[in-house]
Amino acid sequence: MNTNYFKTTAIAALTLFCIFTTTSISAQTVDFKSIDTFFKIADKLSQNKNVKKSDWKKLYKTAAYQKLKINQSDCKDIREAMELTFLSENKALCDSLLAAPYSLSDDDYNLKLLLRNCVSLAKNYDDVKNVRQSYDFEELKAQAIRQFRDFMPAVNDSFLTVPDIYFFFNGPDGYAIGNSIMLDFNYFYQNPQRIVGTFAHEIFHAYRFHLKKVKIIYSNALLYTLDRIQDEGIADLINKKGSEYSAKTLTEIGYPIDLEKMYLETVANCSDWLSRLDSLTLAHLDGTMPYDTYQEQILSLIKRNAHPVGYHISQLMVKNGLKAKMLDSFYNPIEFVKLYNSIAESEGMHVFSDRFMTYIDELYSKK
Ligand SMILES: [Zn+2]
Repeated sequence: MNTNYFKTTAIAALTLFCIFTTTSISAQTVDFKSIDTFFKIADKLSQNKNVKKSDWKKLYKTAAYQKLKINQSDCKDIREAMELTFLSENKALCDSLLAAPYSLSDDDYNLKLLLRNCVSLAKNYDDVKNVRQSYDFEELKAQAIRQFRDFMPAVNDSFLTVPDIYFFFNGPDGYAIGNSIMLDFNYFYQNPQRIVGTFAHEIFHAYRFHLKKVKIIYSNALLYTLDRIQDEGIADLINKKGSEYSAKTLTEIGYPIDLEKMYLETVANCSDWLSRLDSLTLAHLDGTMPYDTYQEQILSLIKRNAHPVGYHISQLMVKNGLKAKMLDSFYNPIEFVKLYNSIAESEGMHVFSDRFMTYIDELYSKK
């Protein structure tokens, strides 16, 4: 999914050790409590009615926000974005904030992101509420399962898990947390078909989780990094329409232009990125870099880049006729790297060193 890179990274870290649980396909939840509480407060604000402290508290305590582990600063931004959008007395202030320069490095970046999303939701307020009441969410799930099945050959139904959905208000984004998909309602509203794809993408992650060697992968930063690249790279094939389109979408849905630029730069420098991963690993193997420093360096490399790097590689594999082979070993990051290495030279990309390849094989086969 297109992600709020910074928050997602934190959430991904929190969910590293989350275990997907198997539930039957029909037993999941679609939870609207958070977005419904949001609507109640928005109604009060629009009608200039008093919103009590307990109303805000109720909103922050909803399961969606609790799962997202929102902190005090997030609560403050949510409230401020809502008050700026829905209180008529704040119109001039709201307009001036929307017109101000907008960048990832702004101190009030999160507020500006939420405000854009809140104003966008408010523009279609009645229709958004209608969609919440009338949309066929069961059909959405069914379509997502179909999309996943179309992509994956020979799906083993006993590993097929359909995540719960929690709708809330936040930035225009979705996150996977354990066996749940957390979705901003306006992000859904703007393009429900896109959410079918997002959902199919998340079903892939949950399905893959059942087959991957979780213990070994999470025991080592390099294996974790390679796993993220493979996991996001293949999943992005399900619901993305190319790297440029993915980058452009970030700006369209409300992120500052810097994020689009960063995405495209990462794709353009993908070979250098992989080369750096190789050389850091060799430095570690040579004993010139202790594990803690090495871990810190490669985790910061992957932090924002699992999607652009992984997706670029998986697209190269498809281009080289390796899609079937890639899907045969979709849960094995070492096989993914081997396939990549087989086409790297002809694609003018960094070829991983023999030492690197031997090392990852050893790491992965440890008991
Ligand atoms: Zn993903």
